[in-house]
Amino acid sequence: MYSNEEKTEVQSRPTNPTLISRIQDLKKLPENNNCSDCKSKYVTHVSCSIGIFLCAQCAKFHEQLKPGLNRVMPITSNDFTELDIKLIQDIGNKISNSTYERKMPPCYRRPTYNDPIVMMEQWICAKYERKEFMEGMPLPDYLARTKEGYLWKRGKDNKQFKIRKFILCKQTKTLKYFTKEGANIPPKAELSLDTIDAFIVPEKIGHSNGMQIVYESKGFTRSLYVYSETSEELISWYASIYAAKLQWQQIAFPCTRVEELCLDLWPQIVKEGWLMKCGPRRNDNFYKRWVCLVNRKLLYYLDSLDAFPKGEVFIGSKHSGCYEVTIEESTEGDSCKVLPRNDSAFSLDGGFMFFVRTPQRLFTFQAESAESRKEWVDALLAVIEKPLTPFEQS
Ligand SMILES: [Zn+2]
Repeated sequence: MYSNEEKTEVQSRPTNPTLISRIQDLKKLPENNNCSDCKSKYVTHVSCSIGIFLCAQCAKFHEQLKPGLNRVMPITSNDFTELDIKLIQDIGNKISNSTYERKMPPCYRRPTYNDPIVMMEQWICAKYERKEFMEGMPLPDYLARTKEGYLWKRGKDNKQFKIRKFILCKQTKTLKYFTKEGANIPPKAELSLDTIDAFIVPEKIGHSNGMQIVYESKGFTRSLYVYSETSEELISWYASIYAAKLQWQQIAFPCTRVEELCLDLWPQIVKEGWLMKCGPRRNDNFYKRWVCLVNRKLLYYLDSLDAFPKGEVFIGSKHSGCYEVTIEESTEGDSCKVLPRNDSAFSLDGGFMFFVRTPQRLFTFQAESAESRKEWVDALLAVIEKPLTPFEQS
């Protein structure tokens, strides 16, 4: 039941079916049929201040931008006015994005609804609050491609996060970090930008501003796990790394268009999680491993935040070599049939196995469930189906 006050308010806002149906008609236009910011097809809200359609998650970030000033309403609301409808009709997603994204640099990765919340939140802040991508605005700091600052880094052995100074330098093509500061103190490590990739991984690191930096160290894949104190700083580091990488790729491949370079600029952690993995010999045991598929690398670790993997496998293309993923045990080569029953993590009954064959070896894995196995097999098959890019061949 309504109180008297609420009753008066409800009575003063009669449902206006005409306005609601006009909003629905505007939403059906192709340019408004997806969320203006993350491209989700689940459009549920409008910003009556900007004149755009949004999904529920992006609507929340818009509400946080300027409380009280950015009016965000569900598309089913009874509170629309003629002025709201006129603004949405005049602006809409297409015109809004042509203004707010006009100067978006190619090195800035446009997140989508699948990305971590921190990326979406910062994308919306950069776009509407800081107006970073609008005509006439000052260049954002990451376009300097040189950056100095502090990140909390997880120790390789003691596993404690400690604050460390990091320096990204476009001239030397390096990212360095220091455990001690002072004149003539060398960096603890100097990472070549050629081999660096960064991934925003809050859940894995257990911090909303968590990032994994992966690079080549003496022929092995090494990971650093860091977090920053603010989400804006995290995205600034992430964008700086890719701004510097893209600049060097443009120098290395002068005939390749920047749009083409950007297609492979940001690698993805395609899939990661716990699996059981069998050793290489017929009677080897199965061991629990954290397995991570990054682009064409299948890495397996003792623990999810280890610096180095126990092993890594290049997953090529079926067009360029003998690569296979099956759920049937191959009759060729060594494979494992006898499974030990000494690990409680999985029900080791021989179910949910899958096999990855490379020209060098057959790898045997066991997933926790049929669903998990299907996800792994589908992810690996998608990689094998893809031809190698010119960069992967080089
Ligand atoms: Zn959205």
